[in-house]
Amino acid sequence: MKKYRNLIDGKFSAPATGRYFENINPADNSDIIGLFPDSAEEDIDRAVRAAHNAFAYWSQLPAPKRGDLIYNAGCLLMKKKESLAKVITWEMGKTMPESLGDIQSSIDVAYFMAGEGRRMYGQTTFSSLPKRWALTKRIPVGICGLITAWNAPMAIVTWKLFPALICGNTVVLKPSQESPLTAYLLGEILKEAGFPPGVVNIVYGSGSKAAQALVKHPEVKLISFTGSTKVGQLISQECGRQMKKCSLELGGKNGLIVMDDADLPAAAKAVVAGAFSTAGQRCASTSRIFVHRSIFEAFLTKLINETKLMKVGIGKDSDTKVCPIISRRQFDKIMSYIEEAKKDGAKIIFGGKALKSGKFAKGNFIEPTILTGVDIHSRIAQEEIFGPVLAVFKIKSLQEAIDKLNDVDYGLTASIFTSNINSAMYALERIEAGCCYVNAPTFGSEPHLPFGGLKNSGIGTREPGVQALDVFSELKTIYIDYSGISQNSQYTNEKDKR
Ligand code: NAP
Ligand code: MG
Repeated sequence: MKKYRNLIDGKFSAPATGRYFENINPADNSDIIGLFPDSAEEDIDRAVRAAHNAFAYWSQLPAPKRGDLIYNAGCLLMKKKESLAKVITWEMGKTMPESLGDIQSSIDVAYFMAGEGRRMYGQTTFSSLPKRWALTKRIPVGICGLITAWNAPMAIVTWKLFPALICGNTVVLKPSQESPLTAYLLGEILKEAGFPPGVVNIVYGSGSKAAQALVKHPEVKLISFTGSTKVGQLISQECGRQMKKCSLELGGKNGLIVMDDADLPAAAKAVVAGAFSTAGQRCASTSRIFVHRSIFEAFLTKLINETKLMKVGIGKDSDTKVCPIISRRQFDKIMSYIEEAKKDGAKIIFGGKALKSGKFAKGNFIEPTILTGVDIHSRIAQEEIFGPVLAVFKIKSLQEAIDKLNDVDYGLTASIFTSNINSAMYALERIEAGCCYVNAPTFGSEPHLPFGGLKNSGIGTREPGVQALDVFSELKTIYIDYSGISQNSQYTNEKDKR
């Protein structure tokens, strides 16, 4: 069994702990993909020291030169797209088109951020005093700790990494234990692209040990985290205590409204894609829909027909539409939500069962599941499930749909299907979500725009887009005075000026 190693200071090195964890194939739990370092404090400390030593050179390298290396990385991702996608499908289960999309998104953000090397605009404006210029310039934050989720293992990492690097920061990445091989291959690509040693360090291990050591390390000046709201709260508390910059991309409980004037076939396809692709394991998955009562039955028929086309299977099989669940633990959690909803009186109108025989025997597979009659205040209607489970609610009016859609602690993404521009505009103004769609699924963000959520889905930061530069840089305000006297704009009386 291959033992993988941390990437510290440009070299692959074994963990100081001497311990390793297994990377398990979710489609076949008997298939161990490799052993990865179960690192702890000492390994993180070594990585932070390497990042510290690399900072002086990297932060002073002109941004266009940093951009050239990011561009190289983008080209290598493009060259290796197919083989990388196969690895993603192997270690986290999703289908090949989904894995290829994951890499494409990383390529897109690489090219976009490489271009930022020649922009990263600051502000130049007029001073209120004569013979003085006033401007701003972006400077790096310092050593950035990146802690990431597994469901888009290349995209989530690169959406943080490339903005962090273009701004001149050095990085320590702690990827999810569920997707370490993708991170490892990215490390190899970064070496090949020409990044100097120590600029990017990758340390594998658990959240409780490795990631916590990163969050607590006093030399780390910023934590960018993508994951659950519960862990995000822990991280932001520690960052607050240490006055660290902190960016959090957290969970979602995303709703979609289907009005009586909607294109029903298109809406049914979008709901099914949003709810069941990647087996609902996206932060932007659709988990609640609000359907107008006058088309409720007609829409359910279409929805069920579309769902029948969502074949559950192994990600590498070309006809698979619904992939396995990432882990046994997550599988058990999803099934317990379904059981609890049944006990509470919800009706399963499609699916609801785990698949355990034949090719499903060794993996974690759950049928796409649609429920009606769900209590809107129950756990299944309020909490993030992160599985192929959809609750359908009947609504009488647009206002009722918006009120119910908003009545959750999360606010990541939302959508409305309608052919009435006035309904769409009304909803766009009132829906409490960071990303809103009209006549489209609740997922599908583009890396040159900001992505992020309101309420418990985030803390107001946005990655990627140009807004990621605000996360990964500080602004320095600069006044250049050539008056030859000591001027100050706050003194208006001539005699006070010195
Ligand atoms: P998670 O359990 O919160 O883990 C995310 C990362 O944090 C992993 O690397 C994890 O390490 C680490 N971690 C766990 N406990 C920690 C702790 N006490 N201190 C510091 N780090 C800790 O989330 P997940 O199950 O990987 O991913 C699913 C979640 O991510 C969902 O809530 C989903 O909505 C969210 N997500 C959000 C976005 C977005 O952009 N808003 C995108 C994708 C996913 P381990 O390796 O030990 O797990
Ligand atoms: Mg795995």
